[in-house]
Amino acid sequence: MQKKIAVFPGSFDPITLGHESIVLRIMPLFDEIIVAIGNNNEKNYTFPLEKRLQWIKEVFSDCPKVKVDSYSGLTAEYCKKVGAKYLVRGLRGGADFEYENTIGQANRRIYEDLETVFLLTEPEYMCISSTVVRDVARNGGDLSKFIPAKIDLTK
Ligand code: ADP
Repeated sequence: MQKKIAVFPGSFDPITLGHESIVLRIMPLFDEIIVAIGNNNEKNYTFPLEKRLQWIKEVFSDCPKVKVDSYSGLTAEYCKKVGAKYLVRGLRGGADFEYENTIGQANRRIYEDLETVFLLTEPEYMCISSTVVRDVARNGGDLSKFIPAKIDLTK
């Protein structure tokens, strides 16, 4: 049988407990999960790509199903290239849905075999975003409730 490959794309600037939770929850559904950092030239990232890749690798170092990668260009084209028919996204609320609905429809036009799979956030992670994490980090706050224990944003 064909390997079921899913791509979980994002900026991961940096990876949060919300992202980690989505990956752990989709683990039983797929044979391989590629956590892929999309490089968008129009976005200004806080953390360098190498660091963002390193932290994701550290978080999933014990998960053989999880691969970590980065890509430029269209996410749907990237999925096609790596043989992934599933694109995973997390939904925190209505705003996420509005955004994802448009992108998801567009992705289908680009790659018609691609299914977008949405997972609702765990309620305790609803308020967690990379933006909040960056804010807490900048102000020297306690990050333990926001990012996986395995990573240290200063390293
Ligand atoms: P992007 O810039 O593509 O939105 P992010 O790194 O912000 O990249 O998010 C990647 C994915 O993770 C998105 O689908 C987003 O909705 C999801 N996500 C982010 N934070 C959470 C969270 N707390 N709970 C569930 N999903 C989340």
